[in-house]
Amino acid sequence: MKLFDSHCHLQDPRISEDLHSVMNRASMAGVSAMLCCGTSEQDWDKVIEISQKYESVIPTFGIHPWFIATRTERWLDKLEWVLKSFPEAAVGEIGLDYTVKEGNEKEQLSVFIDQLRLAAKLDRPVSIHCRKAWGELTDLLEKEKGVRQGGAIHSYSGAPQLVRRLQNYGLSISFSGSLTMEGNRKGKASLEQVDHERLLIETDSPDLLPWGFTGNNEPANIISIVKAISSVLGCSDEMVSEITFNNGMKVFKR
Ligand SMILES: [Zn+2]
Repeated sequence: MKLFDSHCHLQDPRISEDLHSVMNRASMAGVSAMLCCGTSEQDWDKVIEISQKYESVIPTFGIHPWFIATRTERWLDKLEWVLKSFPEAAVGEIGLDYTVKEGNEKEQLSVFIDQLRLAAKLDRPVSIHCRKAWGELTDLLEKEKGVRQGGAIHSYSGAPQLVRRLQNYGLSISFSGSLTMEGNRKGKASLEQVDHERLLIETDSPDLLPWGFTGNNEPANIISIVKAISSVLGCSDEMVSEITFNNGMKVFKR
């Protein structure tokens, strides 16, 4: 079985300190491609180092909405420079998170727009984080005429009714360990709305530990998300892994 983890943070100290074992377990589990998502200027170097060390790792660079206060004055120039230096890289993790209580929604929006436009200019796919800002996200995607070069909404938590619209904007829909929680009826209903060619899976390691696991989450655990999907869709694990692997390669492998 070949698996594509379409969103993880291997640079996070919680797993990077034991990365050799984490990567061994991933490879034993069949995870042969991973999108390692940067979150601020401070972790881009580590993302580069990991992607150069492990062939299965695709780097992404961006400023996560939680960390916009840490950005330096020249962050956008730096982002363009690092993306140009790594033509295989995507743009992420970027987005909007209106669950944070910092009152910085306007600033988040402006940092997100700059990164979306840079991704379009350089023709790079995006990895988008969105929490409680679905109206703002769809308004923005409408104004920007979608994401022509593709990308994903990571760990999808929006309404099932929104899936088609997001797909029409050029995005794929990625499901995480939250789908393994028994009470997650909304996630399961969303999954049923996703076109097979737009379906992705991810661990968001080291966070979003799937149900029944302990410790830090890691890419090897992605099989539990495959199983959650196959049981909702009534198909085999092999089919889910093949579809999501091929979709991941199409969206993110340059
Ligand atoms: Zn993430």
